[in-house]
Amino acid sequence: MNEETLEQQLYDEEAETFRNQLATVTDDGKRKWVYPKKPKGRFHRARIIVSALLLIILVGTPFIKVNGHPLVLFDFLNRKFILFGTLFGPHDFHLLVIGMISLVVFIILFTAVFGRIFCGWACPQTIFLEMVFRKIEYWIEGDAKDQRKLKAAPWTGNKFFKKLTKQIIFFAIAFFISNIFLSYIIGIDELLKIITDPPSEHLQGLTAITIFSGIFYFVFSNFREQACTIVCPYGRLQGVLLDRDSIVIAYDNVRGEPRKRFKKDEGWENRGDCIECYQCVEVCPTGIDIRNGIQLECVNCTACIDACDDIMDKIKRPRGLIRYASLNSIEKSERSGSNRKSKWRITPREIGYSILLTLLVSVFIILMLNRTDFSVTVLRTAGLLYQEQPNNMVSNLYDLNLVNKTFNEIPVSLKLENIDGELKIVGKEIVMEPQGNIDAKFLVLLKKNELTKMSTPIDIGIYNGDKLIKKVSTSFLAPMKKKDE
Ligand code: SF4
Ligand code: SF4
Repeated sequence: MNEETLEQQLYDEEAETFRNQLATVTDDGKRKWVYPKKPKGRFHRARIIVSALLLIILVGTPFIKVNGHPLVLFDFLNRKFILFGTLFGPHDFHLLVIGMISLVVFIILFTAVFGRIFCGWACPQTIFLEMVFRKIEYWIEGDAKDQRKLKAAPWTGNKFFKKLTKQIIFFAIAFFISNIFLSYIIGIDELLKIITDPPSEHLQGLTAITIFSGIFYFVFSNFREQACTIVCPYGRLQGVLLDRDSIVIAYDNVRGEPRKRFKKDEGWENRGDCIECYQCVEVCPTGIDIRNGIQLECVNCTACIDACDDIMDKIKRPRGLIRYASLNSIEKSERSGSNRKSKWRITPREIGYSILLTLLVSVFIILMLNRTDFSVTVLRTAGLLYQEQPNNMVSNLYDLNLVNKTFNEIPVSLKLENIDGELKIVGKEIVMEPQGNIDAKFLVLLKKNELTKMSTPIDIGIYNGDKLIKKVSTSFLAPMKKKDE
């Protein structure tokens, strides 16, 4: 190995050592609390607007009803799901599977193209932490510097008051979030009952609210960015989902290096645009230095873009030293000293994912269009052929299974559609419960001398009053006619 290669290797190893350790963990394994500086700038303003809209949608959705039923409901306990007013149950398992696979492929494609844009702009964890809890913390304890000072200060009345007020407000918001969360599972009507009825009538519901409140309070007051860096599977999958053409929040090292402290009387020759001010590091809520390259901890919150743009404005250099860009676009760009726009390149991987996603979505749409409110199965009872009956009649016994996917109770009657004969339901009248599944038996009686074949096709209509809700075909077995009959 020549000297130059060895030197490069040593440099590369040194540059990558930051990946050996989480930015929020000390050398001896203790938690390093992050005090990010208050973010400000055009991206932050845009994120406030997007976050406010998403929060309104999140809180408002459980109150929206379609025909008296929730717009969205994820009742895992009863395996009942409502999406845009349509009920899905265990009988729609195939739709769930195709839908989930489509969602996974969509996430892979979206991440391959746009990186972790979801984390920064739409993830509830980031929105609640950065736009609600952190804002309250800034309001009560001040900016990062003041928060550090308060932490180091002795316990005075003022410190106790600030800390206690903050924690009470945090718990109140966590309690509110847990109520909203529960309303997506049990519906807003059930939640209102839990709130208004005597507590003894809803011990289960109250226990769930208490547990959720505790979890949310812990996550937002203490666990914070570790939910993204340690727990979130999406974050941990970035290494395989991203490639060098994905658009991420990136530091333009071609333009920024070699970094050097800024001195007013010095020119810009033989140096990069990064002035080592550390503002991008100070604002980072996950405590990383984006100049080290893409990192698992980066939640694409855009705070470092705003911070660096602000510095660039001050030193009269073009904005965008940190920006949305792909690594390839940065590496391939010529060093020009000006802000370079990244071009979106469609890669073969993205084309492949797009084709797969189109196929999956097409199948899903076809299945949805062919989905009916009822499913009916009619089978001749196993082990029985036919029964000879008085008055020259022959009967067959059938098993009927009816699935009602609607919210309504539906009494049904059965009729023979294509042949004269009798149809008798065994037992009581059939009534389909809302979202229910019912089994019944019925007999079909036909005149023996009118049957010319051993197996005769018959159609059975299932009616609600006069309304035909489904027609099914089956066969009727009869004894073979003797030649002289
Ligand atoms: S904010 Fe910009 S100039 Fe300052 S250290 Fe970060 S990248 Fe360099
Ligand atoms: S590196 Fe920048 S975008 Fe990523 S989390 Fe830190 S401040 Fe946000």
